[in-house]
Amino acid sequence: MRDEAAHLRVRRLPSAHEAPLQTSSPAAAPADDERLNWLSSIPFFAVHFMCLFAFVVGAKPVDLAVCVGLYIVRMWGITAGYHRYFSHRAFKTGRVFQFILALVGSTSTQKGVLWWAANHRHHHRYSDQGEDIHSPVQKGFWFSHVGWILCDKYGKTRMEGIKDFARFPELVWLNRFHLVPSVALAVALYFVGGFSMLVWGYFVSTTLLWHGTFTINSLSHIFGKRRYKTTDTSRNNWLLALVTLGEGWHNNHHYHQNTANQGWFWWEVDLSYYSLKVLSWFKVVEGLRLPSEATKYSYLKYTAEERAELAAPTSFFGAGGARAQLVAAKSAAEAQLVAAKTAAEAQLIAAKTAAEGKVREALAAAADHLPSSAPTPEPLLKS
Ligand SMILES: [Zn+2]
Ligand SMILES: [Zn+2]
Repeated sequence: MRDEAAHLRVRRLPSAHEAPLQTSSPAAAPADDERLNWLSSIPFFAVHFMCLFAFVVGAKPVDLAVCVGLYIVRMWGITAGYHRYFSHRAFKTGRVFQFILALVGSTSTQKGVLWWAANHRHHHRYSDQGEDIHSPVQKGFWFSHVGWILCDKYGKTRMEGIKDFARFPELVWLNRFHLVPSVALAVALYFVGGFSMLVWGYFVSTTLLWHGTFTINSLSHIFGKRRYKTTDTSRNNWLLALVTLGEGWHNNHHYHQNTANQGWFWWEVDLSYYSLKVLSWFKVVEGLRLPSEATKYSYLKYTAEERAELAAPTSFFGAGGARAQLVAAKSAAEAQLVAAKTAAEAQLIAAKTAAEGKVREALAAAADHLPSSAPTPEPLLKS
């Protein structure tokens, strides 16, 4: 059963008492462990380099078909598997199909399923705040797109964030040996279709797949429309939704992250969800979580000011974007208000104390001039 209260916690904009978006300062220089590690990143660049052989081997129709086909199947492994199932538990399935989802996702060479899902959960917890591991608002386009993957800091699996799936030994094994399915796929392509199929089916397809997936971390927080108020700059973008089989409805997703569908209206094409729907007819998956009507149409209640804030753009270059400035200005104004109130209260207390002191002095002076038999005036003064 859906826990509305839990979802409400992630979709509100921060109030004056909560930590505001930390966007007032320019994008900070990366820490040592956030710098690109050229040595460990060699395979990443090598896969890109191998794409150049496409110009040497030519473009045979069968190779192109394999390239596109493997892009779609593996993107599905990422969106339906790594993302909607393992990161968000947006539907239920048995242990065998769960493993198949993890296996297909692993062939995309985007590290292990537990690593991916745990990092993604972390992204939702801190989206576009200082701790977000891939926020274009905080660290700019490059870092949110690939920089965070190519540095040392985020290499380990955050096991504490994915305990629910870490209890399956087969998933732990696959997470550890995540390259095995990719290598097996590449070898199979070579034996089936030769070097040209390896180049198109693995190297070109995987490079496109990587950047298709990464756009959701980078471009989906920069380009597109914001329908819902969220604590981040997530956006809905139809082009990215097509490229990523439905993940481009990222503002919907950040607003209500546990739904099996990310396109919520009929025109929001979401191929991953359509496939899950078909699988549910055959009982391969079940319990697809969907947004309530109240959630879908909640944006209709926004004020003009809230709509204006949603329409503000986000900078491509990290902190300093119009929306970031708007949020920062709002936070600064709220901070000034609190400071002014505190100062006024302090002045009031000081004035009261000074006045009381003067009254005490006057009473003491008066007491000096009274005959010793007269009652002391001290009790007249309220403490
Ligand atoms: Zn996001
Ligand atoms: Zn997500």
